[in-house]
Amino acid sequence: MTRSTGTPDIDTVAAFLDAGHVELAKSVSAFATEKIEPLETVDDDAQARVQAREILQILGAAGWCRYAVPADFGGFSDRVDTVACCLIREALAAASPLADSVFALQCLGALPIALYGNEEIQRQWLPKVADGSAMAGFAMTEVNAGSDVRAMTTRAERDDGDDGHEGGYTINGSKTFITNAGLADFYTTFARTSEDGLSTFVVPGGARGVRFVGAQILSAPHPLGEIAFEACRVPSSARLGQEGDGFEIGMTTLDRLRPTVAAAACGMAARAFDEAKQHATNRRQFGRQLSRFQLTQQKMARMATDLAASRLLTFRAARASIDGETGVTLRSAMSKYHATEMAQRVVDDAVQILGGVGVLKKHPVDHLYRAVRALRIYEGTSEIQQLVIAREIFRD
Ligand SMILES: Cc1cc2nc3c(=O)[nH]c(=O)nc-3n(C[C@H](O)[C@H](O)[C@H](O)COP(=O)(O)OP(=O)(O)OC[C@H]3O[C@@H](n4cnc5c(N)ncnc54)[C@H](O)[C@@H]3O)c2cc1C
Repeated sequence: MTRSTGTPDIDTVAAFLDAGHVELAKSVSAFATEKIEPLETVDDDAQARVQAREILQILGAAGWCRYAVPADFGGFSDRVDTVACCLIREALAAASPLADSVFALQCLGALPIALYGNEEIQRQWLPKVADGSAMAGFAMTEVNAGSDVRAMTTRAERDDGDDGHEGGYTINGSKTFITNAGLADFYTTFARTSEDGLSTFVVPGGARGVRFVGAQILSAPHPLGEIAFEACRVPSSARLGQEGDGFEIGMTTLDRLRPTVAAAACGMAARAFDEAKQHATNRRQFGRQLSRFQLTQQKMARMATDLAASRLLTFRAARASIDGETGVTLRSAMSKYHATEMAQRVVDDAVQILGGVGVLKKHPVDHLYRAVRALRIYEGTSEIQQLVIAREIFRD
């Protein structure tokens, strides 16, 4: 994409930021504008796979991936700072949805390890996530287990080891819609270990029995694909938490990171808003600027207000997450639901204000139009967020 993302709107969400966050917001926004935005906008899956790796190196070298891990492993704070991750995703998503995805997966793959991993597995992977030398994956979804995570059929069978070999698990099954499939250095993987229990394992991407089945091509370039586990053996030390903790690990991870999806949606909406504002200011029809027409003004007013409301919900949820407040589940679900639906509308309005230019494939707003759609689906669809919100409302 080719235009400056501008400076972040810190004032609206200042109540949820520390002084350090304000500095971070400015520096990550400048970085995204100078280093990420000028990257070529790739338009096919193969190029996206190559560029995702390049972006990881750039993010790692600049230190941004350190925010995905705790201080003991190269990060900056004892707990992963969700507010910081939101600021980073907001800035990256405004510059490049692909760069946002790369950073998002470092968080998604690493957080379960940070929260539930033993020291050995933490030492093995988290420093590499932090410096960008390892790309993370998160392998939960299956063909018949999307929203209904508990329906998964991938199995992990335990063995006790022999002849001095550590006990472990043999994983069989396949996963679909996996970001970084075929690219990731490890997959934080969910599998069934009993009739009613799921467990979580860290599986190296190069382990014997991990097979990249193939890419799934999206409308916006994104390294998505299917992977299969075929008699893939991992040691017991690769298990996160206790056997049977997998569902809780997955849901806790999503609770903590949903505000970051909301932040990415806000970043995309903010970029679309900037593009629409610039066009409405410069483009003249019927002898005046588009910005002089009340119908354009109405759209811009609605876009700005909706975006500000979403950002408030987003940073409120992120703040609750780092402060350890109750109500994180409710706030996270509200933020993701509101912001991703908002971003869809705002990007669509931006396309409308740009007219024909807005559907030219090379235009950033067209790219955003294609990229923003998936946010209402991944990490829990809008309908699932509504169910979570309703469950919390009616909780005794
Ligand atoms: C770009 C992208 C990246 C992704 N990356 C990953 C990844 O890295 N790792 C991973 O594990 N997964 C990933 N996913 C998968 C994603 O999490 C799932 O697509 C999502 O959870 C929805 O599952 P599904 O697609 O099977 O839809 P389904 O669950 O089949 O849902 C279809 C429709 O039915 C609705 N629905 C389902 N259940 C209910 C209900 N109880 N009440 C009302 N409506 C309902 C849904 O809201 C949706 O509208 C990714 C998906 C996309 C699009």
